[in-house]
Formats: sequence, C-alpha cells, structure tokens
Amino acid sequence: MNFDLIQARTIGHVIELLSANVGAKIIAGGTNLVDLMKENVEKPQTLVDVTRLPLNTITERQDGGLRIESLVTNSDVAYHEIVMSRYPLLSSAILAGASPQLRNMASTGGNLLQRTRCYYFYDTATPCNKRVAGSGCSAIGGLNRIHAVLGASEHCIATHPSDMCVALAALDAVVYVEGPGGERRIAFDDFHRLPGDTPHIDSVLTTSEFITAIEIPAMDFGLNQTYLKIRDRASYAFALVSVAAALELEGDTIKSARIALGGVAHKPWRNRAVEESLTGQTANKDAFARAATDILRDARPQSGNAFKIELAHRAIVRALGQAAAGTPQVQSNKSFQ
Ligand code: SF4
Repeated sequence: MNFDLIQARTIGHVIELLSANVGAKIIAGGTNLVDLMKENVEKPQTLVDVTRLPLNTITERQDGGLRIESLVTNSDVAYHEIVMSRYPLLSSAILAGASPQLRNMASTGGNLLQRTRCYYFYDTATPCNKRVAGSGCSAIGGLNRIHAVLGASEHCIATHPSDMCVALAALDAVVYVEGPGGERRIAFDDFHRLPGDTPHIDSVLTTSEFITAIEIPAMDFGLNQTYLKIRDRASYAFALVSVAAALELEGDTIKSARIALGGVAHKPWRNRAVEESLTGQTANKDAFARAATDILRDARPQSGNAFKIELAHRAIVRALGQAAAGTPQVQSNKSFQ
C-alpha cells in the first residue's frame, strides 16, 4: 500500500494537512496505527507526521493542576515526579498497560485515539460495523469474552482498550484540541463515544482536529487512589476489567469518590450518581459493595462474557478498599484488603 508521509512544521500546518487530505491520519508513536495499516484495517493515503512539533512538556499549572502535552510519551508521563507523587493512579494505570518498549513510543494524544482490540475489527475477512459501517457485528453471537457489558448497542459491543484513559476519566481530565475553528476544550467524559448506531466513530474529535494537550485539575486524594487491572496474564494484556478509584476521606467518612471502569464499555465508564451516593458514607466493604451493585445494575452480558459482571463487582469493591487503605500502586502488590 502506498501513502504520502508529510512532516508537519506547526500545529497550523497539521490542521491544514488534515483539512486538505480526506482520510489523512496523524502519526506519532505509531504503536497502534502501524499495526492497523499492516492488517489493512486502516488505509490512509496521507500520514501527517507530528513527531517534530514542540509538544513534549509536562507543566504544573498555577492552580496546582498539570498540563501534559500530546507528544509526551506514556513512559515520561508515568515516571514524571508530579504524576507519581500527586496522581499515582495515572502512573499506575499507564504502567499496567502494554510493554516498556511500547510505552516509550506511545504518545499521550495517541493513547486516547487507539482503536478497540476486538478480534473481528482486525480480521478483514469478517463483518465489523466499526471497520466497515453497516457490514454487521461478528462479535454478537461470536467470540465475545473480552467485550462490553455496559453501554453496548446492537451494532457494536467493543470495549475501549486504554488503561491511561480510565485514570484520566477518574481524574476529570480535559482534552485540548486544535482545529480549523481554533481551540476547543473537551471534558474527558465527553471525548469518547458509546457505539450507538455509528460505532465507526470512536470519539468527538473531527477528522481535521488535533489533540494538543491534556489537563488534569488539582485534587486532594493523597494516597487514597488506585488503579486495579484484572487481565488474563500479568503483563502485556488488555484489561478484562479495570478500576480507577479515588477517595477523599475525613477519618472513615467519604467526602467524595471517583470510580471509573475499563474493559467493560466502549469508553471509560463512570456513574456520577453512584459516586455522589458514597458521599457521607463510612468507607467500608458494605458501602463499596452497594456502589458496585448500583454501577452494574444495567450491565448486560453477551453469550461469552457474563463472568465480567461479577468480576467487575469484585474489582470495584477491591479497588475502593485499596484506595481507602492507601495501598501501594505497584500492580503486583495490590493484595486484597
Ligand atoms: Fe466490529 Fe464492534 Fe462488532 Fe467488534 S464489536 S465486530 S468492533 S462492530
């Protein structure tokens, strides 16, 4: 397959190139796009290489929040001093994903745009509404052990593969994008979409927009935050279920709670009503179990993934228990509390 590779000089140049070339794709780390091109899932005529743009810094905002530019690698985010000390949940989530080599290449912006790992999406011999709109969904009634139990549609039951995005959802991050109309800010919750009847569209980013940065507000969770990832093997595997949990505590009483789930839906899954219901409750297993039941009330299994609902319930209770106890962030050290 032939394609043009164009080096972008400025952010404005990126927007120009995306606007002028229908179907053009941005390439940064290439850790997902190159695989998709090798498998003939993506066939862009034009690749816009953004790797030489000066978007490589992490800066502290005046209000105590953090700005992470879109070309900072996943490794550099995970090991940044402020991320490790104030947002260990984010550091832990990133280090739970992929492999060191991939994390060294993958960019922050690209992490948000990675595509689902549904087997059929990568298999061009099978129908897939996400790959070819209107062609059908092979996962419904097919092999769907890794698929969604929340927010799925009759057109697509894929899950979002990112660990980092689950943490960013819990942290109320904001995505900054540039496009022909200038800059816009998108709340993280609004960035990724549920599949509905247009599962080929993963996010609200338009084809001529470019992610420039992510901002995370200042917050006061201290050590009461954790990322728990349940997967088929201990490393280099996508989540069957993951939970980003953070608690603001006053003694044993919950002042505020954040719970985001990965591996269960087309986007990181939050239920703010359940989070609010935890306010004022004592941080204990009973309260966490009630929250888990409420979050999963609308969960619907496919033919091969009913286990995920019970698994998610247990993972939520465990993650909240770990957050309450200030458990160390190392994935292998997340013992049951
Ligand atoms: Fe395609 Fe989505 Fe169905 Fe997978 S679940 S085959 S990605 S439409």
